[in-house]
Amino acid sequence: MATHFLQAGAHVTQFLKSAEAQFAVEVVREAALLVRRVQQEMVGQGMAKDDKSPVTVADFAAQALVSKRLADRFPGVALMGEENAVALRTDAGRETLEQITHFVRTAIPAATPEEICEWIDRGVDQRRAITWALDPVDGTKGFLRREQYAVALAYIDIDRVQIGLLGCPELEDAYRPALGGEGSLLLAVRGHGTWTQSLVHGGDWRQLRVSTITAPAHARLLRSVEKGHTDTGGIGKLVDSLAIAAEPVPMDSQAKYAVLAAGGGDVLLRLLSPGRPDYREKIWDQAAGSIVVEEAGGRVSDLDGEPLDFSQGRTLAGNRGVLATNGRLHEALLSGLKQIGA
Ligand code: AMP
Ligand code: MG
Repeated sequence: MATHFLQAGAHVTQFLKSAEAQFAVEVVREAALLVRRVQQEMVGQGMAKDDKSPVTVADFAAQALVSKRLADRFPGVALMGEENAVALRTDAGRETLEQITHFVRTAIPAATPEEICEWIDRGVDQRRAITWALDPVDGTKGFLRREQYAVALAYIDIDRVQIGLLGCPELEDAYRPALGGEGSLLLAVRGHGTWTQSLVHGGDWRQLRVSTITAPAHARLLRSVEKGHTDTGGIGKLVDSLAIAAEPVPMDSQAKYAVLAAGGGDVLLRLLSPGRPDYREKIWDQAAGSIVVEEAGGRVSDLDGEPLDFSQGRTLAGNRGVLATNGRLHEALLSGLKQIGA
């Protein structure tokens, strides 16, 4: 596919120069379109509320695909993914594995169920010096509700995220929810900015910048839909204490980071839910999203203002929650959080 750039100048192409960035763009596109295909074929109107099978199939199929492509392109590198294939190897998992195989074969026709389990299981790595972190379907509840979800892939070198990709099938221009549209692909490369193009069609790359809002009262907040993933009471207190006028916008998945990077929101909050005060964020839930915001000019920290530490295994063990902003609002939000004791 031909690649065009809306902005001229030699520096513009730098973000696509590395083999890792080029690989990641194509594999996230392929995985996100596979996930969308599973949704189209499996998420029906009359589905029982507790039927998680479509997202299970999508999760495993996308992890198998990315893992296989990664091993072909960069043999021996570590992959940290959310899933493992233990359950698929049991009798109870056989039917699910057949469905996964059907979808993986749309991309890799010769794939066998046994190979697919092996590919999925490559994702159980611990952190090594160089690690790829994958969330094959981030925002599983959003996927099932036919709202926002994302395929998230990050390349982490030592303890810094260097490349981040978000495939957001239900976002247009990286910020506008548009169900069934052409979707957005976002790519951030350390030192070279955050860029977006059409998920379905590829084509022109456009650089993303965060908003320039400086008054907390005018901030547009983004938060999880799932109440169990955050503290809506705490967010309410913060809104009151900073006299924030607009209602917080609920949105699933790292699509929130895309919206923030594109200037469609100003603040993203992950407060700790009162039911899970010891919850620590998973690396694959934050790595891609955080660099996407930073390279668009924003700032990302934990709720105490500390940088996210990606060197601590599979979770951000040393951080509490996440605050991401357009940068200009960061200190005011940190003070607000201190005031409400979050
Ligand atoms: P969101 O859609 O923003 O709520 O983010 C989805 C992610 O939240 C999932 O991928 C989960 O890994 C993560 N998650 C699960 N439980 C919790 C929790 N108790 N607190 C915060 N995040 C959670
Ligand atoms: Mg996730």
